[in-house]
Amino acid sequence: MSGKYDVIIAGGGPAGSTSACILAQKGYKVAIIDKAKFPRKKLCGGLITYKTTKILEKIFNCDVDCLRDQGIINFESAEYSINYRDHKIRDAASTIPFRFVDRVDFDYFLLQKAANAGAHIFTEEEIIACNYKDAEIKTKSNRIYKGKYLIGADGVNSTIRKFLPYDKEKWKANMASTIEIIFDAKDYPREVTKPELYIGHLRAGYIWVFPAKGKVVTGIGALNRCTTNFKRTYMDFLKSQGIANPESIPMKGYPLPYGNYMKNPCFGRTILAGDAAGIVEPLFGEGIFYALQTGRYLAESIARGIMENKNPEQFYLERLNKYVFPELQYSNRLRWTLFYSQRLLKHMSFKIAFKSMPKLLADMVHGVRSYKFLLKKEWD
Ligand SMILES: Cc1cc2nc3c(=O)[nH]c(=O)nc-3n(C[C@H](O)[C@H](O)[C@H](O)COP(=O)(O)OP(=O)(O)OC[C@H]3O[C@@H](n4cnc5c(N)ncnc54)[C@H](O)[C@@H]3O)c2cc1C
Repeated sequence: MSGKYDVIIAGGGPAGSTSACILAQKGYKVAIIDKAKFPRKKLCGGLITYKTTKILEKIFNCDVDCLRDQGIINFESAEYSINYRDHKIRDAASTIPFRFVDRVDFDYFLLQKAANAGAHIFTEEEIIACNYKDAEIKTKSNRIYKGKYLIGADGVNSTIRKFLPYDKEKWKANMASTIEIIFDAKDYPREVTKPELYIGHLRAGYIWVFPAKGKVVTGIGALNRCTTNFKRTYMDFLKSQGIANPESIPMKGYPLPYGNYMKNPCFGRTILAGDAAGIVEPLFGEGIFYALQTGRYLAESIARGIMENKNPEQFYLERLNKYVFPELQYSNRLRWTLFYSQRLLKHMSFKIAFKSMPKLLADMVHGVRSYKFLLKKEWD
């Protein structure tokens, strides 16, 4: 059995569903192939920023009210807290609320939107091989799917990427590990009403405690090459929060691209988006927005390429270079400034930044201001 499509999309996460929705709306024959059975879990803090809600509105026609009504946004907070170890730097206000989603519901919602737009969805279909030059994949069930183009949106452990000639050393050098434990709110020793970040426990990374409906999402993420005693650090932190015996609680780990985004994720007719291309913001690890935005840029570039009989690569790279990569470059510089300076100045570096301009920094994370000198940021 085989299938021929205009575009094959490996992975039905935020990047894949966005690409599929756009291409299907434009009338292209498109298939998403995902190994998971949906709704499926994805390890994630579930924090979405203002720029994320704007793109959800644009592509999926669902604004904040709609996302709230559908139960997709399950918690909101216009405050956040920054801590250096057990030293509170400040509780701060944000002009725009931070919003939270559960990825089980969020990803399923987007996948259904893609299906409603006309995309063919094949779940529980694991891709095991890829001929990237011919935009062709083979699945575990021995099916072959072929497209004019193949989008690799199959996440950080992308199978598609394994078949591409990319710089594996650079990729590995900038990988981070994460662990998450999600508590029922009643089991957490205190009420959590805003996103809390804890810095200073790690040379390059941080610990988070996020609110969610009826839950508290805790996690740790750090660059592998700068980290020792990763799990121990997390366990000690949870003990300091009042959790007895955290080692006995089931926890999950997952890799996170952390500064290893590919400057050219295009390999002829096979092109990567989202985590598969490492396109995640390198300071806080925000990836949902970048998955949606790169999935969108790629779909629009492929559609334009087909229409104009041109290579979509130039259109995709143009938008990545104009809107996405400068943010990632400047956030990478900011992270090293903060992480290096914490060795010398301890909490003072964060105190200077977050005490003096908490709203501007929140605006930067929301995408209203740029990581480049906090200038006003326009997304197209
Ligand atoms: C612990 C943790 C916390 C995070 N917290 C946040 C946060 O709070 N906010 C935020 O913005 N970002 C966060 N991120 C990052 C965010 O989760 C990712 O950047 C985002 O999920 C990327 O979306 P994607 O569509 O590229 O990939 P994914 O969401 O990973 O989707 C990839 C899809 O591909 C499928 N797939 C994989 N391999 C195959 C295969 N061989 N065959 C078929 N299908 C396959 C998978 O089943 C999956 O459905 C976090 C990440 C981690 C690890």
